[in-house]
Amino acid sequence: MLKDSVRSLSGIGEKRAELLESIGVYTVNDLLSYFPRDYEDRTKITYISNVLNEQTVCIRATVFSDVTVKMPRKGLSIYTAVLFDETGKINATWFNNKYIKNSIRKGETYVFYGKIKKDGPFKQILSPIFEPEDKNNKTRQIVPIYPLRNGLTQNVFYQAVKCASEFVKDIKDPLPDYIKQKLSLMNLSEAIYNIHFPSDFQSYDKARRRVVFDELFILSMALLSIKSGKDSKMGKALSDISCIGEFISSLPYKLTSAQDRVIKEIAADLKKSTPMSRLVQGDVGSGKTVVGAAAIYTAVKNGYQAVMMAPTEILAAQHYENFKKLFPKNFNICLLNGSMTASLKKSALEDIESGKARVIVGTHALIQEGVNYKNLNLVITDEQHRFGVNQREAIAKKGNNPHVLVMSATPIPRTLALILYGDMDISIIDALPPGRKKIETYAVDESMRERINNFIKKHVLSGRQIYIVCPLVEESESIDLTNVTEYTKKLKGIFPGFNISLLHGKMKASEKNQTMLAFKNGEIDILVSTTVVEVGVDVPNANVIVVENAERFGLAQLHQLRGRVGRGEHQSYAILFNQSDTEVSKKRMKIMASSSDGFYIAEQDLLLRGSGDFFGVRQHGLPSFKVANLFNDMDILKLAQASAKEVLSKDLTLSLPEHTELKKVLESKVRALFL
Ligand code: ADP
Ligand code: MG
Repeated sequence: MLKDSVRSLSGIGEKRAELLESIGVYTVNDLLSYFPRDYEDRTKITYISNVLNEQTVCIRATVFSDVTVKMPRKGLSIYTAVLFDETGKINATWFNNKYIKNSIRKGETYVFYGKIKKDGPFKQILSPIFEPEDKNNKTRQIVPIYPLRNGLTQNVFYQAVKCASEFVKDIKDPLPDYIKQKLSLMNLSEAIYNIHFPSDFQSYDKARRRVVFDELFILSMALLSIKSGKDSKMGKALSDISCIGEFISSLPYKLTSAQDRVIKEIAADLKKSTPMSRLVQGDVGSGKTVVGAAAIYTAVKNGYQAVMMAPTEILAAQHYENFKKLFPKNFNICLLNGSMTASLKKSALEDIESGKARVIVGTHALIQEGVNYKNLNLVITDEQHRFGVNQREAIAKKGNNPHVLVMSATPIPRTLALILYGDMDISIIDALPPGRKKIETYAVDESMRERINNFIKKHVLSGRQIYIVCPLVEESESIDLTNVTEYTKKLKGIFPGFNISLLHGKMKASEKNQTMLAFKNGEIDILVSTTVVEVGVDVPNANVIVVENAERFGLAQLHQLRGRVGRGEHQSYAILFNQSDTEVSKKRMKIMASSSDGFYIAEQDLLLRGSGDFFGVRQHGLPSFKVANLFNDMDILKLAQASAKEVLSKDLTLSLPEHTELKKVLESKVRALFL
């Protein structure tokens, strides 16, 4: 039975069961769902005359002489056998393996699999595994390599899966036949078998395709169900949309045509009683805040409360200050942060509940229990990629089906956008405000330190401000803190007479805000900071950002950091100190220096790091996939989404008999996907 413990399999005793459990494999089904991370192709036999240095190959060869032993030093025994086939001779070599002498016989033919070492005409195959030519358990097949830990060997795991594979036929298939037929997808049980034991790479490809399809299909189904749930909900339409015009004409600048278009799209949503569910995507500096502000203005003018949720306190405070300038006084803008004093928090909560506060800005403190809104009808999340789908939903739940707008500066490749925001409409701000100059980006190493320091000096003396960003380097935050503190001291020595301040995550919120405000007001020349300035921070007079240990950042993150400059009329510069010599790191720096296109950079990042890493550890919101690769499986994602639509249009509640299994799987997986 699939649900039985792995102990029920032959060959799995207590000790092996415990090992398996240590990697999360408890049942037969777990074992079958534990997929290989790679495969070794041992299908082809290579002639001895054709083997190449460093190649790992199978050869079919006869043993020419008895195994000989050499002991060049204590603790090292080298066992050698001479092998031949019709094309030539080769030496097989094993180290400290005394069993070889008895397991290999002169005159017999075996298939060997191992790595080749070639030194001129002299050929060796190193520590090959082998079996008699009439068997094929280890050779002449594609062998799965599993991601194992804790002393589990490939061999033990392989045998266990082999045993378990007897039960694949019991796996229930959630995909209805009409989808499988239409897309020529393999049956699930066949696919699972072939993922572990593909007879050739063609059947592996078919199996993988089926498994990837399932992952993306289930996700698409889940997102579409969320969306259809929303579509059928009734919210409150904003009846007076014309007030947007008065907001726009009050701005100190002219909107870009991209901002204009997106505001129109939002206005059209707000007019409807189906709640808006829209993502505004725009590169760093494209001016998303004012687009959100236009929506807030409209909601408040129509008598409702509006909230803006930001991922960091610094950003929340910045929006707060900004909105105070943008909106009339009677909007009573209110700030709510986790680190506010109890009395401040209390009065904020009162104002929110009584409805006195019309605009509420804050961090995820806004979604906590005890925050009760009076008549909330617009929810905006800024830098949405920093929140999970569940947080996006949680803030929306605080209102009575409010209009929802999410904004993201991280340029997400289309694949990811489809997944993370598959339940939303998308607006794109694809132009920057006029007059922005391209940020010149340089990847440099230590030898440039002196010149960079002079460069910084020159810009501060001409009235500009500088960011210097240090990554979190050590495992421990306190060591990191000492590092940046020391580093700041050092900088004060290098730049006497300049105002240099430190900003980091561990500072009190009030200190952080003060520092940020002082930087904004031009009282600080050089701001040394950790990545707390990564998102959203807007100080147009700053025109140089220096990133220390740039190799430690993801490209999308570097692009975000770079977006802190180039926000005003001044020519801006990003200096990336690269402390690493690796090829990948050089490649990444080259991408940064050569491109300012956030979408391109994000795709390259995804390509170099894989989707799991894409947003870095801190950045949730993306379900992780076992098999699907968001970069390569775009075509399957499209099919999965189309199929999900087809199924739901046929049977929205999944009550038809052909959807019974699908409904079950969906219910069990949906929660896991978003938590
Ligand atoms: P982001 O999209 O990164 O959130 P912001 O909303 O912070 O960008 O805007 C970046 C800067 O551009 C801000 O200083 C903002 O005041 C300014 N800005 C926004 N729109 C325009 C515009 N149409 N013309 C000129 N400046 C603009
Ligand atoms: Mg922003």
